[in-house]
Amino acid sequence: MPGSERVEEAVSAAVSHALPHTEGAVADYIPTLAEADPGVLGVALAEVGGEVHERGDSRLEFSIQSISKAFVYALVCQELGHRAVHDRVGVNNTGLPFNSVMALELNDGHPMNPMVNAGALVTTSLVPGATPARQWDRIRRCLGAFCGRELEVYEETYRAESRTNGRNRAIAQLLASYGRLDGDAEAVVDVYTRQCSLAVTTRDLAVMGATLADGGVNPVTGQQVVPASVCRDTLAVLASTGLYERSGEWLFEIGLPGKSGVSGGILTVSPGKAGIAAFSPRLDAAGNSVRAQRVTAHLSRSLGLDVFASTAATTTEDHTHDQS
Ligand code: GLU
Repeated sequence: MPGSERVEEAVSAAVSHALPHTEGAVADYIPTLAEADPGVLGVALAEVGGEVHERGDSRLEFSIQSISKAFVYALVCQELGHRAVHDRVGVNNTGLPFNSVMALELNDGHPMNPMVNAGALVTTSLVPGATPARQWDRIRRCLGAFCGRELEVYEETYRAESRTNGRNRAIAQLLASYGRLDGDAEAVVDVYTRQCSLAVTTRDLAVMGATLADGGVNPVTGQQVVPASVCRDTLAVLASTGLYERSGEWLFEIGLPGKSGVSGGILTVSPGKAGIAAFSPRLDAAGNSVRAQRVTAHLSRSLGLDVFASTAATTTEDHTHDQS
C-alpha cells in the first residue's frame, strides 16, 4: 500500500468522484430497505496493518444482507474443508439473478455457488450445530470475530424479510426436493434470514474484508478468525461470483474480489493489503450499489490494487543483458 497520506487523499477523492452519481434505485422487495435514505455514502478502507481510513457515513448501521454469504462460506470451509464444500455448493457463476429458481432447475438442483441464494442456503445448512439456534449462534459469533465486535440483528428487517421471503422458502423446498439441503428447510431459511439482517457499519465491513486480506487474522483485534487457506478459497469464489451476474464486468473493471448486498454495501478485498467497503443504497439493475462501485473503481485504480495489472519486471536493456 502507498503511505497513509496518499490513502487518505485517495479515499477523499473517491467520495467526491462518487457523490454526484444519483442514478439507480433503493431495493424495495424487503420493506425496511425501501425506507433507506438514498443520499448516504460511507467509505472505509482497513489496511492489514490495522489502520482504518473512513469518510462520510461510515459509522451508520445497515443490514449486511448478501455480504454475510462470504463469511458464512468461510466458516463452513473451515469446518468442512475445501473439497466437501466445493462438491456440495460449487464455485461456478450461474449467470442468472441471485434468487433464480431457473438456475436450480437447469443444474439438476445443484446450487452452483455460495453467493447466490440457493448456494447460501445450502452453506448455512452446513454450519455445525445440533439445532438451528446453535448454528445461528455460531454464525453470529464468527461474523462478530471477523469485524471485532459483537453483532446484533436488525429485528425490524428480520421480521420484514421473514414476512416477504416466500421466494427463498420456495428455493429451500426445491433444494430439499432434490435432496441437496441438510435439515428442515424452513429452519434453514430462518437462520439465513437472520444472518442477512445482522447490523453492520461500513467500517465493520472494511475490517471484515481486511481479515480476509490478512490470512484470516483480524488486523484490529489480532485474532486468527479462520485459516489463511480458507481466505484464499473465499476470495477465489468472490472473484467469480461476488457481484451477481455482473461479476465478470466487476473483475474486468476493478480487478479485485468483491461482494455486494442489496442494502447497498460492497466489500472488496485486496489480498495482503486491505479491505475496502462502501455503502450507498441506490442500486443498478443487478442489485449492486451505484456509488459503491464508483468508489471502489476509483480506489482500485488510484492505489494500484488491480491484481491483473503489472509492469515489466526488467527494462529492454536488462532483457538484452539476460539473453547475452
Ligand atoms: N436477504 C436477501 C435475500 O435473500 C439478500 C439478497 C442480497 O443482498 O443479494 O433476498
